[in-house]
Order: sequence, then C-alpha cells, then structure tokens
Amino acid sequence: MHTLRKLLLSTTTALVFLTLSPMQSLAGNARNIIIMIPDGMGLADVTAARTFKHGPNGAPLSFETLQHIGYQRSHSANSLVTDSAAAASAWACGEKFDNNEICYHGDGRPVRPSILELARKMGKATGLVTTDGITEATPAAFAAHAPTRDCRQEIGRQYLETTKVDVLLGGGRSAFTTETSDQGGTKGNLLITARQKGYTVVSDRDELSKAVAGGARKLLGLFQSRGMTPECHRTPENREPSLPEMTAAALALLGKDRDGFFLLVEGALVDKANHRNNYPMQLGEVLAFDEAVAVVKNWLKADRKRKESTLLIVVADHETGGFVVTGPTASLPGPGAPLKTAWIGKGHTAVDTMIWSEGPGSEKLSRAMDNTTVYKVMADALR
Ligand SMILES: [Zn+2]
Repeated sequence: MHTLRKLLLSTTTALVFLTLSPMQSLAGNARNIIIMIPDGMGLADVTAARTFKHGPNGAPLSFETLQHIGYQRSHSANSLVTDSAAAASAWACGEKFDNNEICYHGDGRPVRPSILELARKMGKATGLVTTDGITEATPAAFAAHAPTRDCRQEIGRQYLETTKVDVLLGGGRSAFTTETSDQGGTKGNLLITARQKGYTVVSDRDELSKAVAGGARKLLGLFQSRGMTPECHRTPENREPSLPEMTAAALALLGKDRDGFFLLVEGALVDKANHRNNYPMQLGEVLAFDEAVAVVKNWLKADRKRKESTLLIVVADHETGGFVVTGPTASLPGPGAPLKTAWIGKGHTAVDTMIWSEGPGSEKLSRAMDNTTVYKVMADALR
C-alpha cells in the first residue's frame, strides 16, 4: 500500500511536472540572462542616433525592435539624481543604495547576493563586458560589494577571488597593476592573481580572438589603462576590440556552459559623451552599443531554444546632460544630415529611462516601474 501510494504520488508529481513545464518555460525559467546597459542614454539619444543612421522615416535601431518596452524610475536611496553605482546596485541586488555604494550599506545592514552571484550559485557561467574600466561602478555592482565605487583594486580582487567571474572584458588595467592601495586599503598586482587563478590574460583584439578560438575557460581582457577609446577617436591602427566584438567573444565562451550564463554588456561611453556634451562621441557610442545588441540578437536567432530560454534586457541606468533634439524644424533631415541638439548641463538628470526586453519573464518589464523591479524580474526568471 505504502509503495503504491508512493508510486501514485510520484506519477502525479511527474504528470503535474509534465503539464506545467511548457507553461513555466513561457512564464520564467531563463537559462541565460543578458543585461545590456547604455550608460547615461536618454530617449533623445535614441532619436538622434536613429535619425542619423536611417532618417526620420527609416528603420528602427536594433534594441528598439525588442518585444517589450517599459520605463523605470532611477533615483537612489539618498538622491533624486542617481549615480551609476547606486543605479547598478538597484538592478544587481534589488534595493535602493546611496550614491557611490556598490551593493553595500554603510550602516552595516546586510545585502542580498547580486543577480550575478545567484546565477553563479546555480552553476551558470558569468561575464562582464564594458567600454569603461572593468572595475568601474556599473559592472562592479553585479560582482562585488564595496562601500564606494573608488575601491577599484578591492572590486578587481573580488572579481577574481570571490565572485570568480568567468569572462571580464574592458578597460581599467591600471586597477590591476597599481602599486598604491585603493580607499579600502587593497593593493597588489592582480594580473599575477588572475594568472594564478587560471585566467588567460589578453590585451588587444588579436589576443582576444586567439583566446576565444582556444576556448579559454576563464578570460581577463584589459584593453586600456582606464576607459577604452571612444568610437569617434579610433584610428585603423587601434588594437582595442569594439563593444560588438567583445560581446561576440563573451557569447562564444559563455554560451558553452551547460547550465547557461549571466552576461552584462555596458556601453559606458554614452554617459561620458553626454558629460562632455559631445555629439559625435554620443552618436558613435549609441550606434556601437546598438551593434552589440544586434550581435546578441543574431546569436539568439541562430538557435530557437536559445532564443526561448534567454532573457534579454536593454536598460539605461540614468540620463546624462538633459540632451534634446530641437531641429531642423523646416525640413526632414536625411540619413547622416546634421541635427540641432542641445544639453541643459553636464551632470546626470532624474528623468526616467527606457527598458527594452524580450524572452522569459520580459512581459513584466512592459510598464512603468522602479529600477529595483528589474532585479525582481531577473531573479524570478532564474527560478
Ligand atoms: Zn555619469
């Protein structure tokens, strides 16, 4: 009787499982999560880049074609105007932090593990890709905990020793080689640590290609001492990989993990362009970011199962500069024609930012929300 009951129960469980699993795979259960961040990009940056590339009646940018569109509030715990540290921490750990904090409360309150740490705990591979220094605020929030964003060496040490991120690509070599300690007192040559921990270390596009072809299991690519060179300043001799190239490299390596992966891709220099009120730089960075999104979309398109099991989110952390497009007012500019543009300042603004998404759970992102909700959607999708 007992055995029969057990058998019946297990059969019922199996039936329920069989009935639910297709529904569940529609509602959640993301095998992969890819979050792509155009730092400091407002909606007017999108208008400008699309109009320049395709004209006012032309095709949309790649990220504009994602299935769901929503927007988010971006304020931090202590300011209506966030910085990138608090904004990324809200996504990474699902609660509000003060500006400068990297998933860390100065008053000692505990912090939950980041979405990247959750993914890693589930056996997934993890990756961070940025055009800024790899230990800068946006990637840092996902794979480190630190009282301020200036603890660059400590953040790098945590990447290698604690969070053990599999693929790290960007600038910021100086944080790995500096002799002076950071604000938290961490110092030391992290390149030596990286090699000891099994990382292949690369410093230009050719070395990156070789490492990918060789199937590097752990990869640290540091292509500039600080931020990488903006697109508008790159010459043919430049040996730094572009954001789309770094994205393709990360997908090639992380995509091999049997348990799936978590990947962050940041177009960090959109923010820097807006801080400088530099239109050619902003344009180059938004279009390079969009090409990186196209790389991801093509990677998803190549495999139906992959597409069905990957949550892709494109979301800006905050707007920078109060950028607007004010003309031309007496004609429609063709592709490549100059636009009339202006900024109201050189700092961040409090304006809400856009979210484009598709894949398991993304329907929950098609509305107005707080930035902490993005964490909840990702965490639910992982379950
Ligand atoms: Zn900024």
